[in-house]
Order: sequence, then C-alpha cells, then structure tokens
Amino acid sequence: MFKRILIANRGEIAVRIFRACRELDIEPVVVYSEADREALHVQLAEHAYCIGPAPSAESYLNVDAILTVAKAAHCDAIHPGYGFLSENADFARRCAEEGIAFIGPSAEVIEQMGNKAAARELMKSAGVPVVPGSDGSVPDAKTGAKIAEEIGYPVLIKAAAGGGGRGMRRVFDPAQFEDLFEEARAESRACFNDDEMYLEKLVLNPHHIEFQIMADAHGNVVELGERDCSIQRRGQKMIEETPSRQLTPELRAEMGAAAVRAARAAGYVNAGTIEFVLDPSGAFYFIEMNTRIQVEHPITEIVTATDLVREQIRVAAGLTLSFTQDDIRPHGHAIECRINAEDPSRNFLPVPGHVGFLHLPGGAGVRVDSGLYAGCELPPYYDSLIAKLIVWAPTRLEAIRRMRRALEETIVDGLTTNIDLLHQIMYHPQFVRGTYDTSFIDANLETLLAWSAGVDEELAEGAAATDAAKEGEA
Ligand code: ADP
Ligand code: ADP
Ligand code: MG
Repeated sequence: MFKRILIANRGEIAVRIFRACRELDIEPVVVYSEADREALHVQLAEHAYCIGPAPSAESYLNVDAILTVAKAAHCDAIHPGYGFLSENADFARRCAEEGIAFIGPSAEVIEQMGNKAAARELMKSAGVPVVPGSDGSVPDAKTGAKIAEEIGYPVLIKAAAGGGGRGMRRVFDPAQFEDLFEEARAESRACFNDDEMYLEKLVLNPHHIEFQIMADAHGNVVELGERDCSIQRRGQKMIEETPSRQLTPELRAEMGAAAVRAARAAGYVNAGTIEFVLDPSGAFYFIEMNTRIQVEHPITEIVTATDLVREQIRVAAGLTLSFTQDDIRPHGHAIECRINAEDPSRNFLPVPGHVGFLHLPGGAGVRVDSGLYAGCELPPYYDSLIAKLIVWAPTRLEAIRRMRRALEETIVDGLTTNIDLLHQIMYHPQFVRGTYDTSFIDANLETLLAWSAGVDEELAEGAAATDAAKEGEA
C-alpha cells in the first residue's frame, strides 16, 4: 500500500480524499495556491506545500510544481480529484514516467475517452447505443450543416474536448447552424485549447442517467447502480439522486450491463462514470465517460455502503476490488444538493466572499462534504461549489423531507448561495413526484425564484398534498 499520497486539488474534494487517506493510514500531502493559504485542506494537513499564485494555470494545473513537491515529499501516488488535472492524459503520463502512481486510469484510456467523438465510435463498436449523430468529428461549419440536415433538427453541437457544460450549442433553426457552430468552436478553443467538434441529435426532455463503475487491474468490473442527475443549470448538475424514478428493474439491468460493456471496451481500470441520456420513450444513449471520481459519488457510496475514494486508492496500488457485483445491493434512497456560492437570480453568477457564522446540518442520515469553516475566505478564482449536502432515508419521500430540514438548518452567513433555490425545489410538486427532466430548472426558474422569500404557503400546501398522495401510493 502507498505510504504518502499527494492530493492535487482543493475545496471539498481535497478534504474528502484527505479523509480516505487518514482512514487507510496513508499520510496525505496537500498543495495549495497563494489564494488558498488558509483553506480547510491546508489547515487539516501536517504536510502542505504552496505551488504557485492564485490562477489555476499557475498552481493547480502546474504539472511541474506538483511533481516537484511529490518527489521532494516522497509521495508514491497522486490523487487528482475532479476538474483540474484529473482528466489530463499528459499529467497521468508524467506521473508514470516519474514512477508515481496516478490514482485513476492509464494515460491512454484518459486520452481515448477524453475525446468524446472518438469515445462515441468506440462505444458503437462495443454495441453500446449512442445518440444518432456525426461519424467522428466534423471538419467545418458547412459540412456540419449538411450532416445536421441528415440527422434531422434539433441538433446539439458539441466540443470533442468539452466538459462542465462548455462548448455545446443547441440548434433548432437550420439558418442559425453555422453561427452557433463557430460560437461553440470558439468557446472550445478558449476553454480547452482544442477545436474538434461533433454533432448529436438533441434528445428532447431527456433524463441524465449515469452509472458508477469500479474496475481493478485484474479484470474485475463492477457497476454500482445509477444516479439521476437531471436537475441541471447550464448543462451542470445541481441535484442528484439514486435510485432513479425513471428506471424499471429491467431497464436498470440493461443500462448497467451496457455500462460494464463500455468500461470493458475501454480497458478501464479505477473509478469511472458512464453517462447516458434517457428519452421519454425509455431509449437510452451513451453521451460520455468521465474518467475520474465524480462530484456526486457520495450518493452511490451511501446506498451501496462502499467508499469509492478508498477503493480508487486500493485499485491504484494493485489490489483487487474489495467487493464483487453480487455484493452490491443498493439500499434506501440518497439525494445530494450542491451548495454553490452563486446568485441564481443573476444567471447563477459565481459570487465569492467571506463566510461569517456557519452552521452545517447533522443528525440521522445526513452527510456534509465541504471545504467551509466559520471565517473562511472564498477566493474568486475557482469553482463555485462550496459544500455538498447528502441525505439518506429508507424511502424517497423520507429522503426529500430529510433534505428539506437539513437545508433549513444550514446557515452560511455572508455569502450569496443557491440554498433557498434548492429548498424550493424540494417542495416543487414535479420534484416530489419525480417527473422532472433536464429542462426542469429552465422551465421553472422564474416561479422558483419568486417563491424564494421563504417557502411559499401555497407551494408548501401543494407539496403537502403531493406528499400525502405519494404516501398513499407507497
Ligand atoms: P460531475 O459529472 O463530476 O458532476 P461536472 O461536469 O459538474 O462533473 O464537473 C466537475 C468539476 O470539474 C466542476 O468543477 C467542473 O467545472 C470541472 N470540469 C469538468 N470538466 C472539465 C474540463 N474538461 N476541464 C476543466 N474543468 C472541468
Ligand atoms: P459535459 O462533458 O459538459 O458534461 P455532456 O456530454 O455530459 O457534457 O453533456 C452535458 C449535459 O447536456 C448532459 O448531462 C445532458 O443534460 C445534456 N446533453 C448532452 N447530450 C445531449 C443530447 N444529445 N441531447 C440532449 N441533451 C444532451
Ligand atoms: Mg457530462
């Protein structure tokens, strides 16, 4: 087993990985930017090294600085978390060259799945359904427009290197295709330094359903069930739950088997996620694989009684998975809310700031993964995710009720957050009934914001009636 792991990340995920290391008796070594001197992961750690100025490009993405620390501090492995260098094949390769284990799949696999157009082709050959679209990438806007006609409108223009909802444009009107293509391509160049584009049919009112995979270097691949991540803003997830109300046992088994096939086709080792869109008729299509730990992994951990970060570390050290497919028997219902420092009424604009009084919820069935403490400073340079609130309960309705009360207990003074919005969603009849799809936020934002001065009474009554009706069904 490893003796020392360098955690190449910040925020809640750095703390999450720190905890897994401590429980495995591995010494965590953390790194930080000049803006993060006082961050929670630095306060917790005995070994902490500054790797550069605030901008990510000079610190958390600074491969040379991170490898220098890893060697100087005698680390035998690096955990990249999510975002930053987690899906950077060159970084994984450099780690291998330096004899340091990268806690994730090999550089070759990251490269192959990181190009979403190439990943689609691999999935097709493995018999995993993909959304109808271009064969591989599209060279220019004119050719794209022709292919879009063949696919049939509406279409979705996507960046092969895309992530975090960027580099995507929906097109309903053929006359706008070329402009939107150039716009998406420019965004991809700016965000990912890459301009390869491809096309997919835009699936209308889909559900985002993803499957968690864990694979070891000895040929074992296990799927740990699905997560429904259909509550999204700007293509980014805000609330996730498992199990999904959309899946029958048959569909779940079919999608799980497709996810395992996908992982095997990729020669996958370590934790990964196969993302699908599910259309209202029950047809599902692969959209991408994330070759890293996912933000929403805790809901899977809770219903399956596993520790995915611990498992990632064990697998990277060459051990076999500590569970088999038969051991995975999901129990109860889990929901995660992502608490972001952002202003929902200003198009979810990130708002940095200073945290005053802080109270995080607890009690039965509540887990909080966060990088917050009273008095901490949120620098403006990074992601707006500040905490994840995760609840478990035997049934979905009990989980929703538990989430409502946990959100009510949460106090983050001094910051603008989406907490009120999350709380409103927990009362929305469509959420309570579980009939929402990925258009939910766009379709309901105005109403939800109008309710934001405390829970609207009419809404609460409606929810109470829905709760009662659901209880009657159960
Ligand atoms: P998840 O599926 O794990 O929820 P998200 O798309 O929400 O993934 O992204 C998780 C984090 O990683 C976010 O902080 C997001 O900004 C960041 N991220 C995702 N993909 C990329 C990428 N290709 N490049 C840079 N950051 C990314
Ligand atoms: P990213 O790498 O940015 O996470 P994804 O390919 O996972 O990009 O797409 C982000 C979100 O966009 C998905 O979660 C889903 O809600 C939506 N989406 C992606 N592809 C399609 C599609 N073909 N039709 C409809 N919605 C889609
Ligand atoms: Mg995605």
